[in-house]
Amino acid sequence: MSIRARYAPSPTGDLHLGSLRTVIFDWLLVHEEPDSSLILRVEDTDQSRVVPGALERQLQALAWMGVSPTEGVCLDEQGNVVEIGSYGPYTQSKRLEIYKKYADELVAAGKAYRCFCTTERLETMRAEQQANHLPPRYDRFCRSLTAEESAARAAAGESCVIRHAIPDNQEVKFTDQVRGEVLFQSNELDDYVLMKSDGYPTYQLANVVDDHLMEITHVLRGEEWLPSLPKNVLLYEAFGWTPPKFAHLPVILGPDGKHKLSKRDGDVSVIDYDQKGYLPDALFNMLAMIGWSPGTEEEFFTRDSLAKRFSLERVQKAAAVFNFQRLDYVNGWYIRQMQIGEVAERILPYLVAANLPAQAGNYLLTVAAAIQERLKHFDEAEEVAWFFFKRPEPNETLRGLLIPKKTDWEATQKHLRESMQVLQGLAEDQWVPDILDENLRLHIAMNNYKNLEVLWPIRAALTGVPASPGAFEMLSILGKEESLARLERAVSL
Ligand code: GLU
Repeated sequence: MSIRARYAPSPTGDLHLGSLRTVIFDWLLVHEEPDSSLILRVEDTDQSRVVPGALERQLQALAWMGVSPTEGVCLDEQGNVVEIGSYGPYTQSKRLEIYKKYADELVAAGKAYRCFCTTERLETMRAEQQANHLPPRYDRFCRSLTAEESAARAAAGESCVIRHAIPDNQEVKFTDQVRGEVLFQSNELDDYVLMKSDGYPTYQLANVVDDHLMEITHVLRGEEWLPSLPKNVLLYEAFGWTPPKFAHLPVILGPDGKHKLSKRDGDVSVIDYDQKGYLPDALFNMLAMIGWSPGTEEEFFTRDSLAKRFSLERVQKAAAVFNFQRLDYVNGWYIRQMQIGEVAERILPYLVAANLPAQAGNYLLTVAAAIQERLKHFDEAEEVAWFFFKRPEPNETLRGLLIPKKTDWEATQKHLRESMQVLQGLAEDQWVPDILDENLRLHIAMNNYKNLEVLWPIRAALTGVPASPGAFEMLSILGKEESLARLERAVSL
C-alpha cells in the first residue's frame, strides 16, 4: 500500500523531542512501503507567531536525524528551503485562495455560515456565559441569517468570519489507529471559526482541506490534538470527503512521570543534542521506543529493522516517559560501536574549545581509544580527557586525592618514590602497559604491598581525578618523561 504521511509543523520555534518522535513514527511508517512519501507541510496561518529562521532550523534538525521529508517543503543540497512535489504549494500562506474557495463552498451548501458579530458582542456574550458558569461557546447568533442577508452584508464589505455549522445531536464515532473507537457528541462542540476576517483560514479548515487535496493517507499527531478530531471528522463529512487514518500519539512525560516533557527537563531544541554530542542513531532508537515497542527483548536496532517491525497497532495509548539516563546509556553504546578515528574526530572540537592543546594525530587516537568506553556523549570529552593534555594542578586537593584510604601522606610519598625508582629503571621501549604492569606488580609482591597503596597514588598523580583509565594505561599513554615529571610534582607537594 502506498502511504502518504505528513508532518505539519508551524514555523514558530525549534524542533523539540515530541515533534521529532512524530516524524520518526512517520518515517518508520513509510520507510518499508513502496511508493510512499513523508510530506512536510508548513502550517503558517498564524502569521503573528512565525519566527524567522525557525523553519530552516527545523529542517536542518530533521536532516541531522536522517528523517528529511521526501516531498513538500525540503532543504536542497545547498541548504535552501525549496518545495518538491506535485501537490503544492506546501506552505499554507501560499494557499489562501484555495481555502477561500472551499469555505465559500461550505457556506453555499449551508454547512458553514458567515458571522458578523463584533468583538464587543462576543466579549459581552462570553462575560455572560462566564457569570452563568456556562462553557464559552458561540451562541449561533448569525447562524439564522438568511443566505441573501449574509451575502449582501459580505458584498457590502462588512467584516466577518466563517463558522462551521455543527450539526445538532450527532454522535461522532471514529476509529483512531492508536486509541481505537472514539466517540464524541456534536452538541459538545462550538460553531468554531474556519476562516478569519483577515482571509486566513484556521488550523481546522486548512488542515482538513490540505490533507484531502494532498491525498494524505495517515495523520500522525500528538494526543493534544485529539479534541480537534470530532471537528475534523464533521468537516470531512460536510465536504463529502473520506478522512485519512488518524493516529494520536501518546504524550511524552518528563523523568518524574507526571508532567509533560518540557524545557525544564532538558527537552531542548533537537539540534542542541547534536551540539551536546549525541548521535542521531541513539536518539532515533530512543525516541522510536517511546510509546511503541517492537515486542522483543533486544535493546538496539538498526533503523531498517525498526521500520520492518513498526506498526501503529503496537503504539500504546498510555503516556510514555523520556528517561535522560537511558539516552546516555544508549548513546554510550553507539559511541562504543564507532571507529576510533571517528571518536577522535568527534572529541577534538570539544577539547579545542576547552583550550586544551589537542590536535589530530596518533596521540589523539590513543586518547580516544582510552576514553571510548566511558564516554556517554561527546561534550564530556573535556571532563574525561583533559589530563591527557594538561598536568593536574599541584594543590591541596591533589594531595588529598593521592592518599589511599587508611594510609597517610608519608606512606603515600614513600610509595610514590619507590615506584618512581622502579619506573626510572625501565627503558622508553619498555614503557608499554604489559611491561609496566609486570614490573610494578613484582615490586608490590616482593614488598608485600597492597595494589591500592602503590597503584592508586600513581594513577591519581598522573590524572588529578578520582576516575580515569588505570595506572598502567595512563603511564604508557603519557610516556616516560611526562609521567615521571607528574610523579615528581606530586611527590614534592
Ligand atoms: N501545525 C500543527 C502543529 O504545529 C500540526 C498539527 C497536526 O499535525 O495536525 O502542531
